[in-house]
Amino acid sequence: MTLRANAGKSLEHQLKTVGITLLLAFSGGLLWLLLLLEASTLVIVTLFTLLLPLFILWLRHFYQKIITPFYSLTNLVEAIRLEDYSLRTREQYQSGILHSLNQEITTLSEDLQHRKQAYDQHTLLIYHLIEQLDAPIAIFNQKQQLSHANGAFSQYIGQPWQSKRLSTSRSLGLSIDKNNRWSFIDENESSCWQLKQSQFIQDEKTYHLVVLTNIEKLLRQNQQDSWQQIIRVLSHEIRNSLTPIKSLAQTLVELPNQQDNSKKALQVIVERSISLQEFVNRYGDITQRYAVEKRWLSSQTFTEMLIALFPTQVISTEIKTDKIWADPLLLKQVVINLLKNAIEAGVGSKNIRISLVISLRKNLKNEQELVIEVTDTGQGIANTDNLFVPFYTTKDNGHGIGLSLCQNIIEQHNGRLTLTNNKNGIGATARLSLPYQDNNEQSIL
Ligand code: ADP
Repeated sequence: MTLRANAGKSLEHQLKTVGITLLLAFSGGLLWLLLLLEASTLVIVTLFTLLLPLFILWLRHFYQKIITPFYSLTNLVEAIRLEDYSLRTREQYQSGILHSLNQEITTLSEDLQHRKQAYDQHTLLIYHLIEQLDAPIAIFNQKQQLSHANGAFSQYIGQPWQSKRLSTSRSLGLSIDKNNRWSFIDENESSCWQLKQSQFIQDEKTYHLVVLTNIEKLLRQNQQDSWQQIIRVLSHEIRNSLTPIKSLAQTLVELPNQQDNSKKALQVIVERSISLQEFVNRYGDITQRYAVEKRWLSSQTFTEMLIALFPTQVISTEIKTDKIWADPLLLKQVVINLLKNAIEAGVGSKNIRISLVISLRKNLKNEQELVIEVTDTGQGIANTDNLFVPFYTTKDNGHGIGLSLCQNIIEQHNGRLTLTNNKNGIGATARLSLPYQDNNEQSIL
């Protein structure tokens, strides 16, 4: 009856009930014994005053011996839940069920600690791996807020991703539909980037992994391959036809009794054939693969040599790093092209100002880059879409090869070339960035 009444009550409550029962039984038994022995009231009072507190103390000690290990184990389990595996309990029993329980929980804690360490290492490895990848990668939490990303993603959004932590995906131009499919809010982005997505669970929460693949590069590569193909076929055909035309015209020019008019006409054919041949040969440069031989160059010597090539033009220079790591001849060809374009952009406008700045910068991936900027105050870029398309030119005597050639050279240096209008609305800036390794093994040219 008592057991059933106590069912569902706490262990502490049940132990207290047992304690009070024992206390009553002890007092009753003692009183009955003393009355049986006909002890005087003084003896009864004295014995009760001495023995009852002792009995209560013993009960209390017994109660604590049972309950305290449970408190310790509760603390231990709570610490494990909070992923603190360093806590250990002081063993009160060297055998029995509480000893076994303690042993089991300690083993479980150690086991979980090892698993957590392995898991943390894997997570760290994954985050390191993500950081190394060139594709922009972002991780969004359940509320579609940015929780982690890599350097390439920082480059994609144009600022360190950490400053956008917990920003909504929409504010970063990405959205997710009811079927958990990610897409760009701006549809134009889809022509440059492809989205790949997956989900994973960490700490019982679902995360979205979004990977952006630059298909623009791929498209440009395909476009370049097509250009190469066309250029090869055209060059072959033009060269094949030009060679006999030129030699026939040359033979005819040298024939005696040639009328002056005919001679002049034939001379024009020879000259045009030669310049057409040179023209075709130059197109071959756009697609050529170069043997890039990087060396250390002195920024000062490099700049002086460039300035000397444009004696009639004032070019201000700013050199913020003393050396450059690049192929000297190829880089020279690129910067000459950029300076030539800058000068030509100023034709017709008074007081064109051109500056050449060489500096070192850290990119968003925290890697060091050498940056060369050619800034002009010319007419600015009319159409930014076609700048790097071979044969695109806005000049009467232009060939439209310069920028394609520069881009080809810079990409073979694993660098980047951009040409943008200046923010103040006057002129444009060509900016090339090259990977920079600070090794001093080679001497500076
Ligand atoms: P080209 O100089 O023979 O035209 P490029 O490939 O060097 O060939 O340049 C292609 C086009 O890019 C130019 O015709 C011009 O319209 C534009 N461009 C290049 N550099 C500049 C610049 N600094 N300012 C304005 N437009 C430029």
